[in-house]
Amino acid sequence: MPPRSLTILMPRTAEQRYSCHSCAGCCRDFTVQLRAEDVVRLNEQQWEQRLGRSPIVHFRGRDWLRQREDGACIFLQENGLCRIHDEFGLENKPLACQMFPFALAPTEKGIQVGLSYACPSMINNRGVELSRHADDVRRMARLVPELRQGQPRPVMLNARLEAAVDEEQAMIRAFERLLGRVDLSMGKRLDGAAWLTSMLRQAKLENVRGKRLDELLDLLVESFSEEIDAAPLQLPTSRQMKVLRQIVFAHVEDVKIGEVQGHGIGGRAITQFRRHHAFGRGRGAVPPVGPQWPALLRFEMVDGVQPATDEAQIRPIDFLLLRYVRSRIMGGRTWGAGYYGWPIITGLEALWMMLAATGWLARLHAGADGRSALTMADVQAALLRTDRAAGRAPWLGSRGEKLRLAWLAEAAGVGRLLHTMRLTEESVEADADDGAGESPDVASD
Ligand code: SF4
Repeated sequence: MPPRSLTILMPRTAEQRYSCHSCAGCCRDFTVQLRAEDVVRLNEQQWEQRLGRSPIVHFRGRDWLRQREDGACIFLQENGLCRIHDEFGLENKPLACQMFPFALAPTEKGIQVGLSYACPSMINNRGVELSRHADDVRRMARLVPELRQGQPRPVMLNARLEAAVDEEQAMIRAFERLLGRVDLSMGKRLDGAAWLTSMLRQAKLENVRGKRLDELLDLLVESFSEEIDAAPLQLPTSRQMKVLRQIVFAHVEDVKIGEVQGHGIGGRAITQFRRHHAFGRGRGAVPPVGPQWPALLRFEMVDGVQPATDEAQIRPIDFLLLRYVRSRIMGGRTWGAGYYGWPIITGLEALWMMLAATGWLARLHAGADGRSALTMADVQAALLRTDRAAGRAPWLGSRGEKLRLAWLAEAAGVGRLLHTMRLTEESVEADADDGAGESPDVASD
């Protein structure tokens, strides 16, 4: 089969901007897997002779960039810049380093570009319009031939039903419309998004295919506000809160190769079990959450922290949330090739739970600072942690994770937890130009 065309689909989130500001956050935080071509290039650059040891670590059958004791990349210099970049230029860095914070996934219509919010510039919306990166992304996509070979994996509506391209687009449009209800608070829109997902889980979708799915989605989007007013959400149960903390753990857990090699796989498994158990118990000291987080965190710090109530905090948080959710849904990072090959409905449930985990973590951040209401800084710190794992950490794509989500969804836990962990209190964006109603992606050939 000949390779498919190199159509680059940038998420059409007109409000999102990005340029790299060389903060070195990704160089300090990520474990970089190397492609065979990266290994060849690094060997040609003769680093082993110059550094006195190989910059490549072979671990569990794969090649990785070596990290320093503190977990940062071995090529990160004192001035915060990359030594490979300095000496050989951007295009001679490992592909994963060039690509971040973009993530590419093959789809029927082209190569979908997803955005990672584990990058401060993406979170802070700093830089140029996304379309300005299309040529560079195309250059990188050319370096990954497997993106264009073979048939992309089909997108599923749920575990049993394959989604037609039009049905997937209808889903995207429905969530776009719902999120674009600027007459409603962001919290209510997200409650509505979780409610819509739960309605779709319960519906017999085999009976509403094609145009009928469109009609069903229209009906649900039109009625969601009245429906959720008519049936206020209950508080989550203690078991549901425990599962939420375990989901937080799954998002902040970080496997550093040096740590595994130092403790051995058995030793690592024991410390991992201890951390998992601590999150489940939810009392006492919180295991480490990430670099630049306070060391002495306690679970009790989360208690009593409220959503942001100050308008000066609400507006930027809501705008960040809107950009983030739209980029996940419209940038192909919520289901299909961009999210562990998961069906649309399961992927949406994972997204809502990831946001609930972000709300929990933001409360921990605020509590550690002695504040009783969330601020933008808390939300930024939390999202920087949670989004680095979503769609990337293998354990978040596991069968166990799917079962956990299914259990929560069946017991109405997803909506309850998302609402309880909401980031802002009721407020209506009167004049935000969030581009509601635009088509989902911009094709650039
Ligand atoms: S985290 Fe973002 S802004 Fe910072 S160096 Fe990496 S890509 Fe650039």
